[in-house]
Amino acid sequence: MSIITVTGSASGIGAAVCEQLKEQGHTVIGIDRQKADVVADLSTAQGRKAAADQAIKSSNGKLDGLVCCAGLGVTAPSSSLLVSVNYFGTTELIGLLQSALSKSESPAITVIGSVAATQQVAKPHNLVELMLNNDESAARELADELGQPHVAYSSSKYALTLHCRRLAVKHGSNGIRLNVVAPGAVETPLHEASKNDPRFGEAVRNFIAPIGRNGQPSEIADAVTFLQSPKASFIHGSVIYVDGGMDAMMRKGNM
Ligand code: NAD
Repeated sequence: MSIITVTGSASGIGAAVCEQLKEQGHTVIGIDRQKADVVADLSTAQGRKAAADQAIKSSNGKLDGLVCCAGLGVTAPSSSLLVSVNYFGTTELIGLLQSALSKSESPAITVIGSVAATQQVAKPHNLVELMLNNDESAARELADELGQPHVAYSSSKYALTLHCRRLAVKHGSNGIRLNVVAPGAVETPLHEASKNDPRFGEAVRNFIAPIGRNGQPSEIADAVTFLQSPKASFIHGSVIYVDGGMDAMMRKGNM
């Protein structure tokens, strides 16, 4: 069976992904700030390097998969921290683990984006450009200057999704499949904190998917484990919405 690294393994979607992968017989190397095989802080360059070094060491230099779930929501201590974890914590780790992944027969990466990436606030934003230009210090500075965590969040997920799509095209021939899963509202500690936030709580509570309920972490993990499996061997560069119809509702009239 395969060796798969999962970030954000201690909670919510990441924990559900780890559980399913282990049930399927895979070896999982979890990375998180706490309660993980590899305890590391993905908000800093040193933390990302330490996480990658330990994951490579634990897998003897060959990894079959990477699932990037670590992330912060709108209740993050600061917008700069959110940008560092959600965008740079994922994109830099992918770069650091690429060579270990390329040693596998059929490596696959799944990145957790968000349905929030399709919200209009993210797209034209300078913050997206700074992230895509890999300028972490300028992106952090602008994010804090704006002081709008919902803009930082959707911009981080928009930039992350675009980065992954570009990477999938650029590196298609190196054999590493790369896809994004974009969840809607999923009942996790991150979502609970947003629901209780005095600034965003009401909007979050009222944002109900057409299917009439929020998702469970296991429903996101179902999509992730499918994408990591050989059954998804021709799926590459895709964004799969697992959102109870939220994207269809928000972008009705668009593909
Ligand atoms: P969660 O808070 O339950 O889990 C997030 C995990 O990321 C935690 O274990 C946390 O410790 C880890 N993490 C945060 N900062 C880190 C850092 N600096 N270094 C290492 N690990 C760090 O939240 P969740 O809802 O399971 O979120 C998982 C992913 O799903 C996130 O990327 C989130 O943006 C995305 N998402 C969640 C929802 C939702 O409604 N829950 C919707 C769309 C997208």
